[in-house]
Amino acid sequence: MTGNTTEKAKKIIKTIRIDVNKCNGCRACEMICSAFHAAPKYSSNNPARSRIRIIREPLRDLYVPVYAGEYTVSECAGRDKYTIDGKEYDECAFCRASCPSRDEFKEPDSGLPLKCDMCEGEEEPLCVKWCMHDALILEEREEEIADSDVELEEVETGLESLADKFGMDKIMDVLARMNEKD
Ligand code: SF4
Ligand code: SF4
Repeated sequence: MTGNTTEKAKKIIKTIRIDVNKCNGCRACEMICSAFHAAPKYSSNNPARSRIRIIREPLRDLYVPVYAGEYTVSECAGRDKYTIDGKEYDECAFCRASCPSRDEFKEPDSGLPLKCDMCEGEEEPLCVKWCMHDALILEEREEEIADSDVELEEVETGLESLADKFGMDKIMDVLARMNEKD
């Protein structure tokens, strides 16, 4: 029997599963996230800088963790309101985007968008580690990826290490010079 012996590259995909029933709104996740991303690291903790936000309304017994996702340059057309188990959630409550119509997921001083980076460089996302109630659970799965994606990742990793060594400005200068020569 003959078969396709070409092995595709595999990648570990990390996701965080949220169990809203276990969240009690303690905000430890917001605290550690903002401290980890402070400059210098751990020099301050301001939940406004956190990449995870807890929708928190104790009087209505509402606690829902929401992670910061991609930045978007414009407001979306649909503003959804959800009612779940008789509890009504505000417009845009579950939206993960940093967008022009609200202050969520924006660096408070500069207004720059914030996005969860899964605590790059850490063994385990810190919000998961600090959630004492198991409301945030790290899950990992293996997925096959296209060769072109592997190449792009290799280029990205190479550029990152060059940027660390020489600075992004130098890399951009060299790329511009190479572009002129073409
Ligand atoms: S640390 Fe866990 S329980 Fe506390 S607010 Fe965050 S997700 Fe909820
Ligand atoms: S994974 Fe890291 S960056 Fe993302 S919300 Fe949790 S602590 Fe913040």
